[in-house]
Amino acid sequence: MLGSSNLPVLSSFGSTMWAMRFHAPGDLRLEQLAVPNPKPGEVRLRPLAAGLCGTDAHIFKGEFPAASPVVLGHEVAGIIDAVGAGVKGLVEGDLVTVQPNTYCGACRYCRTGREHLCPNLCAYGVHIDGGFAEAMVASARVVYRMPSGLDARLACLAEPLSCCIHGMDRTAIQSGSTVLVIGAGLIGLMLTRLTRLAGAGLIVSSEPQEFRRKCALEFGADTVVDPKQEGETQALAATHGEGFDFVVDAVGSSATFSQAINMAARGGTILVFGCAPMHATATVRPFDIYARELTVKGSFINPYTHERAVSLLPQMGLEKLQIEAFPLAEFRKAFERQPATSMAAKIELLPQP
Ligand SMILES: [Zn+2]
Ligand SMILES: [Zn+2]
Repeated sequence: MLGSSNLPVLSSFGSTMWAMRFHAPGDLRLEQLAVPNPKPGEVRLRPLAAGLCGTDAHIFKGEFPAASPVVLGHEVAGIIDAVGAGVKGLVEGDLVTVQPNTYCGACRYCRTGREHLCPNLCAYGVHIDGGFAEAMVASARVVYRMPSGLDARLACLAEPLSCCIHGMDRTAIQSGSTVLVIGAGLIGLMLTRLTRLAGAGLIVSSEPQEFRRKCALEFGADTVVDPKQEGETQALAATHGEGFDFVVDAVGSSATFSQAINMAARGGTILVFGCAPMHATATVRPFDIYARELTVKGSFINPYTHERAVSLLPQMGLEKLQIEAFPLAEFRKAFERQPATSMAAKIELLPQP
């Protein structure tokens, strides 16, 4: 493994840079690549912080399709250092985040206002070179200016936050609604906070790790339960046995999906937010959906929500969370730490030397 002392100083900006590329499942490499130049309509940024997410871990294990070789990193905050021809509203020195998903614009989904369902979706850090590198180019259309002075390690959380905001759009939680959030990792905590901001009357968080249950209280949960210790019974008791108007599965597994169905009130909505393993299955009684008039909804990525994530980020209280950050050269350590099982709510890479 290369030590960080071997990394070139980017400010001199020679013709090469260090980048972490995915070649095949189990095969990630730190490599020297040519520094990309922005084409018309693009900007180049120096990623200062880039989040590692479940998707990266899935790509590494071969459980999620990605291009190869490709520079990973789709949760990126950085400083613009070159602006391509024709770009308006962005200048060198701006702190920005990248909304990583791009769409074809020509399919039925794109043409009916549902671009995120585009079968030709192409994402920076998955299909196109992303932010685990000293430099990255992106279309100015997907680059968003952040308040200057914001810590880049927080700024890059705009991407997962934008996905959570879409989840909120999908639920349409009302003032006074009762909500169960399953899981209190970064995503569960963000959804708990958003649920509170949306005016929920009762929020219960279900989470097996004690320190995360504490975080859930800080992020707005009224009650926390341990799913391994009679958690379902306690959660139901909080609703006088009725169940919850909304159940958010922020974990993504067969077990949490079944739990979500069981915990919903009559007429309740289940939001499938967490990404379950692609081939996992769950058993549901259609009678339940019928007789209890349940609604099951998915929430996928972040259509039209990154702008709102930028506005909302400062109100999320994310500075309370522990972020564990590694230099780019220590990417293997970072991948070993994902998913975060310690006190850290997020693992990030810091691509600049
Ligand atoms: Zn992600
Ligand atoms: Zn399309």
